[in-house]
Amino acid sequence: MNDAQADFEVTARIEGCGGRAGRLHTPHGTIATPAFVPVATKATVKAVLPEAMADLGAQALLANAYHLYLQPGADLVAEAGGLARFMNWPGPTFTDSGGFQVMSLGVGFGKVLSMDSGAVRSDQVIAEGKERLAHVDEDGVTFKSHLDGSRHRFTPEVSMGIQHDLGADVIFAFDELTTLLNTRGYQEESVERTRRWAQRCLDEHHRLTVAAPDKPRQMLFAVVQGAQYEDLRRAAARGLVGLRDPAGAGFAGYGIGGALEKERLGEIVGWVTDELPEDRPRHLLGISEPEDLFAAVAAGTDTFDCVQPSRVARGSAVYTADGRFNLSAARHRREFVPIEDGCDCYTCAHYTRAYVHHLFRAKEFVAGTLATIHNERFTVRLVDRMRAAIEAGEFAELRAETMGRYRDRRGART
Ligand SMILES: [Zn+2]
Repeated sequence: MNDAQADFEVTARIEGCGGRAGRLHTPHGTIATPAFVPVATKATVKAVLPEAMADLGAQALLANAYHLYLQPGADLVAEAGGLARFMNWPGPTFTDSGGFQVMSLGVGFGKVLSMDSGAVRSDQVIAEGKERLAHVDEDGVTFKSHLDGSRHRFTPEVSMGIQHDLGADVIFAFDELTTLLNTRGYQEESVERTRRWAQRCLDEHHRLTVAAPDKPRQMLFAVVQGAQYEDLRRAAARGLVGLRDPAGAGFAGYGIGGALEKERLGEIVGWVTDELPEDRPRHLLGISEPEDLFAAVAAGTDTFDCVQPSRVARGSAVYTADGRFNLSAARHRREFVPIEDGCDCYTCAHYTRAYVHHLFRAKEFVAGTLATIHNERFTVRLVDRMRAAIEAGEFAELRAETMGRYRDRRGART
C-alpha cells in the first residue's frame, strides 16, 4: 500500500467522460481540483507579489528547477528553508524537472517550441541561426547555461537532488522533451529513455526521502510523453504506471507533457488518462487557454500550469469572457471602465482600462502588475468555475456557455 494513495481523492465526476473534481492533499495545504497553478518561474510570478497571488485565489504556484539551479542555486533555496519559505508563499508549490527548459532553450527555440506538425520531420531540428546548446545521451543531458554559456549536466539523479533541495510539494521526473518535428523512430527511443530515467528518478527520490525523514513529504509525478501517437502515448503511460521504487511504491501522480497538437488536445490527453490509475492526480503541463482548459478537464486532468496569462499580460493582452484583447490599443484610451465588466479581481475593482492603457503607453512597471493580476484571476476563476460546475453536474452547460461567448479576436491561436 502506498501512502500516496491517500494524497488524492476524487469527489465528483463528469457524466459521460473521464473528467473529475477532487482534492490533492500536500504538507502545505489542500488543493481543490481541477485547479490552475500559476507559474513562478524564478520563485516569483513576474511583476506580482505572492500575497496578491493568494488574494486572487491561486491555490499553488509552480517554479522551475532549471532556472533556480542556475540562479540563485538550489542549495541556497534549501538553506532558506525551501522554495515556499524563500518566496514567502504559504501554500503548496510545484517544481518542474528542468527537462523542458534544458531542451527547449538548448535547441534554440527560446520559450516557444515549434509544434508545427505539418513541417518536415527531423531529429536535428533546431531554430534557424542558433547553436545547439543541449545534447541528450542515455545518461542525461549536457547543456550550456542561457545566462553565461557555462556548461552543465542534468541527469535524473541531478534533477531529483535539485528538486529535493527546492523542496516543493509536487516534483516531476526528469524526462526528455521531443517536438512534433522529431521522427517516429526517435519518439519511440525517447519514450523508452524517459521510462528508464523515470525509474532512476523513483529510486533517487526514494533514497533522498529516506535520508531526510524530517523534511516535509514530496510527491513525485512521472511525465508521460509520446507526442501525437496514440500507441506511443498509451505505451508510455502504461510503462510509467508499472514502475516501482525500492519500497514497492509507484509514482504519486502523473504529468502529461511534450508535443500536443492543440486541435487534438482532448483526444491525446484522453488516451493517456485512460491508461492512468483513477486514484492518482494528473497534471497537464503548459496550458491556459479557455478552450484547452475545458478539453483537458473533460479528459480527466486535475491541475494545469502555464506562463501564458502573465506573459501576455506584460505585453498588454488581457482575457475577458468575450475574448482576449490588447489594452494598449488606441480605442481603450478613454474607456473609464474596468478591464472586464463584473470581474472580481483587484485591478478591475480599483482601476480603469484607460488608466492601465496609459501605464502601458508610458511604460510604467505597474501596468504589467495590474494586467497580470487580472489575467491570473481570470484563469484561476475559470477553472474554479469548472470545479463548481462538475460538483453541480453542470460542466457541459458551463463549457457550452463559456465557449459560445469567448472569441479569440486575434484571428490566430497561440
Ligand atoms: Zn479583473
